[in-house]
Formats: sequence, structure tokens, C-alpha cells
Amino acid sequence: MQIIKTIKDLRPVINKYRINKKSIGFVPTMGALHPAHLSLIKASKKECECTVVSIYVNPIQFNDKEDFDSYPRNFNADAQIARDAGVDILFMPGDEEIYPKDSSTFVEISGHVTNALCGISRPGHFRGVVTVVCKLFNIVQPDKAYFGMKDAQQGIIISKMVNDLNSPIDIRLMPTVREEDGLAYSSRNENLIDEERKKAVIIYQALCHAKKRIMDDKESDAMKVTGEMYEMISKTEGTEIDYISIVSLPKLEDVKKIKDQVMIAMAVFIGETRLIDNIILNVAKK
Ligand code: AMP
Repeated sequence: MQIIKTIKDLRPVINKYRINKKSIGFVPTMGALHPAHLSLIKASKKECECTVVSIYVNPIQFNDKEDFDSYPRNFNADAQIARDAGVDILFMPGDEEIYPKDSSTFVEISGHVTNALCGISRPGHFRGVVTVVCKLFNIVQPDKAYFGMKDAQQGIIISKMVNDLNSPIDIRLMPTVREEDGLAYSSRNENLIDEERKKAVIIYQALCHAKKRIMDDKESDAMKVTGEMYEMISKTEGTEIDYISIVSLPKLEDVKKIKDQVMIAMAVFIGETRLIDNIILNVAKK
């Protein structure tokens, strides 16, 4: 595995793969690699001849400095994990590479998809995400790029960006990977103390409750379902709900009456740590 820190060093390596007509798969991450990142790497390795992983904690997608400062960073351990996973190129740029001095170009998607759900409580977050992903796409020039459905809104927004900007990159959205008790893997889970980690399972339990109410009991009133989820989570001390929403896909519009395909999405603080999760249900299919 090659560890590369600058664009200047990365370009000739990527060009060599391109000249040899090798397909390039790309997995952008913010590091603190965990099994869900590995599932994306595995998918890329299966479908592409060269897998590039980037690790970059993007400052402009954090709207809270404390959240940025406390974001877990395990660069040495990450390099070992990536090597063991069979990654071909690990790109770990510094801020000066991604945001050259006087850089003032940002990529912003207007409209409801960026203003809904996490867009409400994290203003500017998706502008930061889309800008950095667009830059990384220009740097790596992959054929396919892999994102996880745990961050479904992000995946939808990146797919839209690629479509809107006529980019040839194939965006592959992969299923959410969960720990044994159902908690979705997240680098932020590292910030949970033991007691909080135990409480965090309530997020998945609330999603399972919603699934049961909608699929088994045929409850179609979205307010009723989210109300029950609120109640379940509020009962757990040390939690604070940012949002729980039932929305349509891919428009992310609030749904009143549940039918066809919906996403139940939520963001919950467990102590100081904000976790997000979602499930997608297809009522028509059962
Ligand atoms: P991050 O390092 O948190 O920015 O995540 C990098 C990529 O891994 C993103 O595409 C995330 O959606 C994906 N990812 C993170 N956690 C999970 C998970 N539990 N299941 C599936 N994908 C995930």
C-alpha cells in the first residue's frame, strides 16, 4: 500500500493506473476506520482494480469547533487497518492540499435535500461535504465512489451533485453496517463512555419499533410512529433528540401518511455525542 500525502505525488500514481486501463474505486473517509469503512473498501476491491481510500477530517463541514477538535484521529492505526484490508493507495492530505491559500470556491446544492434533516441543525454542513467530495473526486478521478447508507442524506446529495455536474463517476451507496446490538458503526462511537455506549442502542431499538409498527401493525400515521419513537428515546436519561423524521426518497420530503418507500431518519445526542441513523422501509413490498 502506498501512503501519499500530496496531490503532486498522487497524480502520477493514479495516471499509471489510468494508462493501464485499470478501474479505480474510491472510498472517502474521515478516518478512525471501523468495520463499516471496511465494508466499503471490500465493495471497491470487488468491483475495481485499484482501491483508493482517503482520510481527511474536513474542517469546513463541522459547524462546531468542539466537535471538530474532539473528532477521533487514529492515523497510524488507520494506516495498518487499510494495509491489512488490501487498500492500494491511502491518500492523507493536509489542509494546505485541500484548501490552498486564498481558496474561495465552494460547491453548494440548493433546494430541499440539503435543507432537510441534518441540514436544519447543521447549517453549512453539506456545503462543506459537497465541496470536499468534489475536490477529492477531481484529485482521485475514480470510476466508482463508495458511500454508506448510514449517512443516507449525504449519499443522496453526493449522487445529486454528480448528476447535476455531469460527472461520470458511478456513486455506489452501500448498506449500513451495525454492531452486534444494532448500533450503527460510527467513528463518533469512540467518544461514548461505557454508560453512554449502552444507552446508544436505544436509537436502533426505536427504529426497529417503527419498523414493527409500520410493517406488522400497518400503522400509516407518521406522527403517531415518530411520537412513539420520541417517547421511547426521551425515557432514556442522557439523551437529547435533534430530529426524528419520516421522509420520502429521494426528495426527503416529510411524509404524513406512510405509503410506498419511506426513510425513517434520526439524529440523537447521547451525552455530547451526536449520532445519526436511519432505516428504509418499502410498505408496498412488505
Ligand atoms: P466517515 O469516515 O464517517 O466520513 O464515513 C466514511 C464513509 O463510511 C461514508 O460514506 C459513510 O456513510 C460510511 N459509513 C460510516 N459508518 C457507516 C455504517 N455504519 N454503515 C455503512 N457506512 C458507513
